[in-house]
Amino acid sequence: MNVQVSAECVMGGAATPPPICEDSAPEALVAWALARFAHQRLIVTTQFGMEGCALIDMCARTGRPLQVIYLDTRFFFPETYALRDRMIERYPNLSFVDAGTDLSPEEQAARCGPELWKSDPDLCCRLRKVEPMRAVMKGADVWLTAVRRSQSATRANLRVVEWDWKFQVLKVNPLASWSREDVWRYITAQKVPYNALHERGYPTIGCTHCTQPVEGAGVTDYTRSGRWNGTEKTECGLHGGGI
Ligand code: SF4
Repeated sequence: MNVQVSAECVMGGAATPPPICEDSAPEALVAWALARFAHQRLIVTTQFGMEGCALIDMCARTGRPLQVIYLDTRFFFPETYALRDRMIERYPNLSFVDAGTDLSPEEQAARCGPELWKSDPDLCCRLRKVEPMRAVMKGADVWLTAVRRSQSATRANLRVVEWDWKFQVLKVNPLASWSREDVWRYITAQKVPYNALHERGYPTIGCTHCTQPVEGAGVTDYTRSGRWNGTEKTECGLHGGGI
């Protein structure tokens, strides 16, 4: 799917962006990015994790009419769809756009065999996440994400602003320096909607087939061990290398 992102999406006054640095607060980085790249094609993406919800709230507070892109893999939890609907209602100045694959689960099974997420999860992620994201990125210059350094070893070297070689866009990571506790503090202070599964032992939430609760995990715990259980895989391929 091609998502057309017009420059007008992020225009909202010609204020001069205040200076920022690697240690700037996420809210300041969001405001800076939206102003600095006001005339470029900027997109915000989310899969509705807790971090993504915080980022969306920060974007919405600027008052700018932004597009928020998500990739519906057709394997979301019902709680994720419920959260999406709450976000749409809560943030009328944002438009939530599903740029997920057109490949139905049935077509995928016919083409690649049943339960591809078990036999070849990298291929499954490529078909349902990475390739749709490539299509999105063809229409983007700047990508605003909610990834954090402390989420995993593969994200430990994130910069606040960096070039994404895979998708060939400038990537802005305003939450890079935050801990999970910081995110939770923001979520509760600003009363941001979040996925109910976080309170049932799911630190991160992806597809139903590949996400398990983690014993003892509370809302401020972050681990990717509940994803792709029993494999070495920790990333779907949207962030970091591979796939
Ligand atoms: S997370 Fe699992 S089901 Fe979802 S796209 Fe990746 S392998 Fe497929």
